[in-house]
Amino acid sequence: MKIRPPIRYRIRAADPAAHLFEVECTVTDPDPAGQRFALPAWIPGSYLIRDFARHIVSIRAESRGASVALAKRDKHTWRAAPCRGPLTVTAEVYGWDPSVRGAHLDATHGFFNGTCVFLRVLGREERECEVEIRPPAGRRYSRWRIATSLARKGARPLGFGGYGATDYDELIDHPVEMGTFAHASFTAGGVPHEIAITGRIDADLGRLARDLKRVCESHIRFWGGPAPMDRYVFLVMALGEGYGGLEHRASTALVCSRDDLPRPGERAITESYRTFLGLASHEYFHTWNVKRIKPAAFTPYDLERENYTTLLWAFEGVTSYYDDLALVRCGLLKAEDYLEVLGRSITQLLRTPGRRRQSVADSSWDAWVKYYRQDENSPNAIVSYYGKGALIALCLDLHIRARTAGRRSLDDVMRALWRRYGRPGIGVPEDGVERVAEEVSGLKLRALLDRWVRSTSELPLGEMLATVGIEMAVRPAESASDRGGRAASKSAAALASRAVLGARTTAEGNDVKLTHVLDGGAALAAGLAAGDVIVAMDGIRVAPKTLENRIAALRPGARARLHVFRRDELHEIGITFAAAPADTCALRFDRRAPARAAALRRGWLGR
Ligand SMILES: [Zn+2]
Repeated sequence: MKIRPPIRYRIRAADPAAHLFEVECTVTDPDPAGQRFALPAWIPGSYLIRDFARHIVSIRAESRGASVALAKRDKHTWRAAPCRGPLTVTAEVYGWDPSVRGAHLDATHGFFNGTCVFLRVLGREERECEVEIRPPAGRRYSRWRIATSLARKGARPLGFGGYGATDYDELIDHPVEMGTFAHASFTAGGVPHEIAITGRIDADLGRLARDLKRVCESHIRFWGGPAPMDRYVFLVMALGEGYGGLEHRASTALVCSRDDLPRPGERAITESYRTFLGLASHEYFHTWNVKRIKPAAFTPYDLERENYTTLLWAFEGVTSYYDDLALVRCGLLKAEDYLEVLGRSITQLLRTPGRRRQSVADSSWDAWVKYYRQDENSPNAIVSYYGKGALIALCLDLHIRARTAGRRSLDDVMRALWRRYGRPGIGVPEDGVERVAEEVSGLKLRALLDRWVRSTSELPLGEMLATVGIEMAVRPAESASDRGGRAASKSAAALASRAVLGARTTAEGNDVKLTHVLDGGAALAAGLAAGDVIVAMDGIRVAPKTLENRIAALRPGARARLHVFRRDELHEIGITFAAAPADTCALRFDRRAPARAAALRRGWLGR
């Protein structure tokens, strides 16, 4: 039997003030032709080329005390001169990206994803990896601890020291937090779970742990346990303003607003806490859907370039569907509140003209250059595979339930995908989701999914929701802050007589700046463009607060002159305001729905 020595890594939070990690990678038996090393161009779960190697500020190689020449081959690959080994490459890595995708280090904490710091040893990716993690030097860091789902190999619980992974793919799938984070733990489905929160917070950790336990247990039950990981860690960074998450096989990195966490003594589930629980629920569902049930295009990941799939709607959309649904099913979200959340999701889709130009299959494929690189034209050009994907999941679920009289559902489809692809670790082919959906439901779904997934036709949301006794109403917005989900205080006819600009705006000082000019709106017809700064209407100064009110006081068809700066040049632009479009959705339970619909609804919501 051939001995395959492990790859040994050592990472030190070397200089918090300069935001520098020092990372060593040692190969005992380097490639005799010259060992190549590379950092990934992207991080799985976030579909954008990020070129992490650009944060390597210095790099050198040595063997047996002598330096070894290291030549850069392309933007993220180095080749060491041939040597007998062991060969050690040492890199300084700059970490000042506080997002869930990056690496970050200062005197208050450190965080890194393996993709940012651990060099891949080309041709040795299957080797076991040993990692030693070291704190910054100095007494002020003596209270720092570690939170990570990396397997401990010598380190004490929460301690610095030895960790390990079975191969490179696993090594880069366990982000690491270090510092003086708040910490709580709970057990779900027999699996130990931890929460580590970085940032100055005043949160009820006991309640957070209890609520997350309910969410996690609900997901484990959904997939038909046992859970596929032997421990799980929520790594949370609390900021003044923030929202985002990245899924991993046994952990998730989350960024949230400080105010999203439950305060001591608070009982109610506020909207912001619901948002946090929804985010945690989303990333936890990914433990199965996308971390283990994966598109064949990601099996294995090609870390050097874009990996194309049409299926992100099934991985992100279906996960977005179940994140809030799980909160209803485990009792953390009232059914009425769920309808509000759903109504808002539908409103968001209706306010995206790009849904008429791009299908979710195309949105998935082009995620790398469109969804992840949004600009002023994005609302007119693209559709979200998260938002529309979740509504496709809703339609598919309700369609299967209605056509099988509640005997089958999308839940069964997901569990079949888990058994066929997830558990055995087989990639899902591009037509795999719908094939399994047809097999499980016994229904012909191809033509229907051609329309929903691969075309820009509107989804039959009203019709599908009616099968579970939910009435959908669509009306114009009451104001710019109306996000939908609730019934309006005025009639739809009254709301339709409100004039609107047809653009999204932001305050720039005391001026109004257009950020997006929407297809079919008055602003676009008048020739206004993103970046324009509106300073006056009909010769009178406008401010962010007054512009909307002045337009709302007009009738559709009313005309005005807008005074606009574009590239610092003043223009006067005539505009004819249009009626507010019917783009705002409210849902409610139909108390007169037939018993069959009520029964389907109970099977669906679990209540
Ligand atoms: Zn996701």
